Amino acid sequence: MQDIRDHTRPELRHIIISLGEKPAHATRLFNCLYRDNAASWAQVTGLPQNLRARLAREYSIAPYAWPAHTLVSRLDGTVKLLFRFEDGATAESVVLYGGGRRTACLSSQSGCACGCSFCATGALGLKRNLAPREILAQFEACLSAAPGRLDSIVFMGMGEPFLNWPNVKTAILNLSDSAGRYFPQSRISVSTVGIVPGITALAESDLKINLAISVITADETQRAELVPMQAEYPLSEVIASAKDYCARRNKKVFLEYILFAGINDTPACALELAALAKTLPCTVNLIRYNSSAGRQFCPATPESTKRFHEILRGNGIRVYERAEQGADINAACGQLAAGKNASPKP
Ligand code: SF4
Repeated sequence: MQDIRDHTRPELRHIIISLGEKPAHATRLFNCLYRDNAASWAQVTGLPQNLRARLAREYSIAPYAWPAHTLVSRLDGTVKLLFRFEDGATAESVVLYGGGRRTACLSSQSGCACGCSFCATGALGLKRNLAPREILAQFEACLSAAPGRLDSIVFMGMGEPFLNWPNVKTAILNLSDSAGRYFPQSRISVSTVGIVPGITALAESDLKINLAISVITADETQRAELVPMQAEYPLSEVIASAKDYCARRNKKVFLEYILFAGINDTPACALELAALAKTLPCTVNLIRYNSSAGRQFCPATPESTKRFHEILRGNGIRVYERAEQGADINAACGQLAAGKNASPKP
């Protein structure tokens, strides 16, 4: 049976109208599901009994999955939550504290099919897409772990959001709906390895979320070795679709660049990235790599990172370095592997 929380409010409205009832009941139902966090039909109040009974015959309301395991970083307080859903599929979420903000990093899939060579999630392969309610469950658990306040949401956990876009979009619409959590779309970011149809779908939608693109390296030959999706969506096409997104939405993009020692941290690589970044409205985020069990990559040194940063800045590129967070609990970038990599006990 389908869970009613896998639908948006306009879809609920449509369902309720099709049952011959007043569309206004959709808002009351939405309030119960997302403000009151109803965990069963018995907890849905304020609807005609007959309507509730008919909905309950066709749709379930299962309680949100709750983390099976929680780890807290002794270094910086980063929290990693491991979810095990009813069919055994797993996913991880992270609560990050940085710059005075609390950020929930959510997963969109259990595992990932993209197979980026530096990423622990990629080594798992794809188990399955997460349903909207499973994404919402991560948000609620992060909110509880934070506790009480989250300032931003990033889809940078396990999975490629644009390969599960219908469910991710539904989750975003439900999170940001004024009858529910009313989380501002402007504080939600989706990060992609470069799925061109996904970028185009976002450009064509009316969502006001932010877009981040994992460039990894501006050299297309080198990128093909690190990011298998390069074969399907070459960086030149990814950047062309990002430019289109910027023009249509009047927004900039974030270019994510993980620095690997001796691979993509050279001055020549910095100049190549600067040349690319000059072609579109963007901010470059330099990300420190954290070695995962079984991965052959090493993080760039502080010296090469500084040099890389200065070359970009010297070329007029807006650039930030993302501080390392949660490395001791394998919660950092590229380390999420649903407990498969070595995590210290809490
Ligand atoms: Fe998937 Fe992202 Fe990891 Fe690549 S970096 S394998 S897209 S989760």
